[in-house]
Amino acid sequence: MKFTVLGAGAMGYRYGVLLQEAGNQVDFVDTWESNVEKVREQGGVLVSRDHQNKRLVPVNVYYPEEYQGKPDVWIVFTKQMQLADFLKRTAHCFSEEQYVLTCMNGMGHVEKLLKYFKPEKLMAGTALVATVLNGSGDVDFIGARGAGTMNLANYTEKPDKKTHDVVVELEKAQFNPNLTTNFLGTLLAKVVFNSVVNTLCTLFEITMGEFASYPGADELSMQLINEAYDICERAGIQMLNTRQEELESVNYVSTVANPLHYPSMYQDMSHNRPTEVDYINGYLVELGRKYRYEATTHAFLTHLVHLAEHTRQSQ
Ligand code: NAD
Repeated sequence: MKFTVLGAGAMGYRYGVLLQEAGNQVDFVDTWESNVEKVREQGGVLVSRDHQNKRLVPVNVYYPEEYQGKPDVWIVFTKQMQLADFLKRTAHCFSEEQYVLTCMNGMGHVEKLLKYFKPEKLMAGTALVATVLNGSGDVDFIGARGAGTMNLANYTEKPDKKTHDVVVELEKAQFNPNLTTNFLGTLLAKVVFNSVVNTLCTLFEITMGEFASYPGADELSMQLINEAYDICERAGIQMLNTRQEELESVNYVSTVANPLHYPSMYQDMSHNRPTEVDYINGYLVELGRKYRYEATTHAFLTHLVHLAEHTRQSQ
């Protein structure tokens, strides 16, 4: 199958490199000049696993304006606030028969993708995996066993042959995909997870394991989970997990799967880049307002993250 990754960052490289190594034809499109130029200069992207065995993987990377490829499936991994610009700049390559798959965090991307792709061609999900971009053309796949796990669903909630073909390629690349037929429930499970772990770890500059070791972690998590679930229930979203299962998922990832990992929101903050908080906690606040529910804790945390961003930028 022919894939093109839009957004050659941490996750774009992880999906693209592993799909390429599983036998697919993969191109990368990116807008960050230093990254594109570095990959061209060194003849590929440097890939390590848990900071070990750094190797050069040859890849083709293009700027949007010069790209002329016609993939079967686009894999989209930009940050939420970058997506509109990426799509606008790459629109000349999009066509009606193409599929698009994304596992970006937060909410806001679906509406933007639907401006360019048909609803029946849109697949979205969540990636339960940690990846760090060390710098231009240099990526670290965290987690030595396999490539994590992922959930995905069709926007129409009706998987077709192409969806199953994509799932087979994801399986070969060891992404351990789980295909569901609950689009919003699948995406919201990760939004709620991130609204707890990403946001709190970022604010306190701690790893997921350090968060989990705090005796009051369950109480903090449950307050945010309860608020988020109250909103989703009012919005009529059928959640994949119960509230208790969502808490268990926070605990499992923080203590067993990725205890040493700083979440991607922390990585943005520490590099003085804007975070995705408006698309995670901020999204829940906005959704709540539509249903006359004031998500005061999520609103407070959104402000705190913006305060931290503001403070760093003015230092
Ligand atoms: P990323 O920041 O590594 O890359 C996204 C884009 O930003 C790429 O185009 C990249 O070239 C560009 N970029 C990276 N650093 C830059 C810099 N210093 N200056 C200018 N441009 C820069 O993002 P990511 O971690 O791959 O995340 C993509 C999506 O996947 C997000 O929605 C994220 O929340 C989600 N996600 C990330 C992880 C993870 O562990 N990294 C896990 C699951 C989901």
